Amino acid sequence: MTEQTHDNNIRHIVIAGGGTAGWSAAAALARVLAGSGSTITLVESEAIGTVGVGEATIPTIHTFHRMLGIDETEFVRATQATFKLGIEFRGWGSADNRYFHPFGHYGREFDSIPFHQYWLYGSRFEDCGNLSEYSLCTLAAERGRFLPANSDPRSILSQLGYAYHFDAGLYAKFLRNYAERLGVRRQEGQVVDVTLRKEDGAIRELVMASGQRVEGDFFIDCTGFAGLLIGGALNVGYEDWSHLLPANSAVAVPSENVGPTAPYTRSTAAAGGWQWRIPLQHRTGNGFVYSSRFLSDEQAVETLLQNLEGRALAEPRQLRFTTGRRKKFWHKNCVALGLAAGFMEPLESTAIHLVQTSISRLLLLFPGRELHPADIEEFNRQTAREYEYIRDFIILHYHANQRSEPLWQYCREMPVPETLTHRIALFRNRGRFFEREEDLFKTASWLAVLMGQGIQPQGYHPVMEGKTPQKVLGMLREMRELLRSGAEAMPTHDEFIAQNCRAP
Ligand code: FAD
Repeated sequence: MTEQTHDNNIRHIVIAGGGTAGWSAAAALARVLAGSGSTITLVESEAIGTVGVGEATIPTIHTFHRMLGIDETEFVRATQATFKLGIEFRGWGSADNRYFHPFGHYGREFDSIPFHQYWLYGSRFEDCGNLSEYSLCTLAAERGRFLPANSDPRSILSQLGYAYHFDAGLYAKFLRNYAERLGVRRQEGQVVDVTLRKEDGAIRELVMASGQRVEGDFFIDCTGFAGLLIGGALNVGYEDWSHLLPANSAVAVPSENVGPTAPYTRSTAAAGGWQWRIPLQHRTGNGFVYSSRFLSDEQAVETLLQNLEGRALAEPRQLRFTTGRRKKFWHKNCVALGLAAGFMEPLESTAIHLVQTSISRLLLLFPGRELHPADIEEFNRQTAREYEYIRDFIILHYHANQRSEPLWQYCREMPVPETLTHRIALFRNRGRFFEREEDLFKTASWLAVLMGQGIQPQGYHPVMEGKTPQKVLGMLREMRELLRSGAEAMPTHDEFIAQNCRAP
């Protein structure tokens, strides 16, 4: 009986590429498909190397790590990771603006009404402070403090959300060790050709520079921007989003750590782009993202180096990309993940998330040897929707601005997707949102960015008129105080790392 079941299963899975995407796929497939009779081979080329950036994440990474059964302390030590409570945006919206996009909630819901409605209503009667004073993540981040979230709804720590910053090279190595322990075979070498089956045009094998051939039933394209299988061999086109997300270049450089380790990513907007700062245990990652239409490479390097806090540890590295996505993520017997599938620039650290949710989706829809069009269509539909949802959120940061430089003028005036225009209109009226369970960015994220970028609601939910102002104001005062004292009671981020997970 078991033998018969295995006969219908994919026998050999080939993953092309060993960056974050390739090794994430290898680890997850090896774990979940264990015992199914499939073997997994990963082909990568040290000479080509990986993109090497991609070091800030969002809280959904916990779901992926739980699926793999990864121990947090072991992972943080192995990857020189630090903790991330959100993103500080400087100069976004207007040149002197600053706001924080937290991973946790604002306050808490009462009577099924979102907290910010109480704050909007209370602010009519007295100064109720900035909304960020009701976010434990923001308060802790501003004080350089950190404690992991707690799932007990009675604890204020349940309001926290967090993710990680890590060394991308060490993360791929960590996942590689994991995958190889579960039997994934790694093959070093450069893929120089991909041959197709005559009968159905699906992929038959990878041809290596050594002349060796790597055959498979099912292929995962993780070859980065090259997209060797999905684009090169199967000719699946690319939907270009440069008119909506104009950045097409980045320069990256590591620097020495200076001062306490911030528990957040910093994104600083400048005349022709924006700069990231990602603190790790052993160094800081920095990069400048820009559009070559508005800034030269020399100007980008100069801006990046001028704004480093510590000494540069290497020469700046240049990267080029086209924002957008594959027209199909799964075509015939090939699924594209990571940069081979698309890229939307790193502003909200969503690329690794997209890799890992696509892997989970693939596992849910994992085929037998007979591919079913409905599975493929469902995978493509859900993945496209997730890309488009994230795209709208990133566009919002660029579009809602009052800056005067040409890049920002262009972004302010460009036509944006109707889905985003509608969301802004809904919020502007009475501060309302409608979220679906599968939405990646929930109310707190949209609220932080909409208000941070200068979009203010003109009213509040009419149901608030039934509330007693004194009660609402008392509740707001109490909550502000509780959260402030909660943040102050936490250890510093550096203390937490030193006590729990300092890398050797
Ligand atoms: P790569 O890392 O490029 O790996 C490609 C693999 O394919 C390599 O192993 C390579 O050797 C192999 N390969 C290619 N061609 C061949 C061949 N012919 N033969 C054999 N092997 C081959 N994501 C985030 O989540 N957070 C961030 O903060 C973030 N910042 C980013 C900043 C920038 C500027 C960029 C460009 C990306 C950023 N990303 C970020 C995205 C993130 O880096 C990628 O999504 C992630 O690293 C996955 O990359 P990958 O594995 O698809 O590609």
